[in-house]
Amino acid sequence: MSKISAVLIDLSGTLHVEELAIPGTQAALQLLRKHVQVKFVTNTTKESQSLLYERLKTCGFQIEKHEIFTSLVAARDLILQNHYRPFFILDDRAMEDFEGIPTEDPNAVVIGLAPEKFNDSTMTAAFRLIKEKNASLIAIHKGRYYQKKDGLHLGPGAYVSGLEYSTGVKAEVVGKPEKLFFEAALKTLGKDVDFSNAVMIGDDVNDDVLGAIQAGMRGILVKTGKFRDGDDLKVRNVANSFVEAVDMIIGNKVEND
Ligand SMILES: [Mg+2]
Repeated sequence: MSKISAVLIDLSGTLHVEELAIPGTQAALQLLRKHVQVKFVTNTTKESQSLLYERLKTCGFQIEKHEIFTSLVAARDLILQNHYRPFFILDDRAMEDFEGIPTEDPNAVVIGLAPEKFNDSTMTAAFRLIKEKNASLIAIHKGRYYQKKDGLHLGPGAYVSGLEYSTGVKAEVVGKPEKLFFEAALKTLGKDVDFSNAVMIGDDVNDDVLGAIQAGMRGILVKTGKFRDGDDLKVRNVANSFVEAVDMIIGNKVEND
């Protein structure tokens, strides 16, 4: 087991659920920082980097804004590189990350979690752009479902898959579990970090843990947030919570995946 030097940390379901921090996580994060480099990686499609930062501060986490790497920030980079003029299907709170991007005469559909926009008129407009105007389809991520206080909710993946199904066009996916996303996040930590001594901690067995393992990192599944019984049978490293995951890392007890 090589020693871990960099840790990617999921936010929702791992450090907090909505505005409530998961008990003990603030102190555990401070302890972890004494041993390794950290980066927060999140598939949020609803909230800008600034809003996420404010929420984490409110939850009592000591964190810098630039330490948060989101699928929205990665999507902005992709849009700029490809000169996309998007038709956005995103929550209004996410739009702050896309300021200044031209949207007239759209040549791409950019879709994230936006429950109030998943209606017939918006989805049909997106469908026609892709089907009739050859617009590209960009998914912030294809999350199947996510956890809120009242239970599981349908993720954007259901709607992205619907557009793929009806248009015959495959979406370019930006966030977790894409290897490029994990690579881009790790790169921000400097040249010395590589996949073999990095680990991802998250509550989503597919997008966090199996995605990281497929990208060449190790992964630790936490039994908080969206975790459900049976998820733990799919992976090697399992912790009751982020607090225990930190103990595993510091104690050099993360097994090779
Ligand atoms: Mg999560």
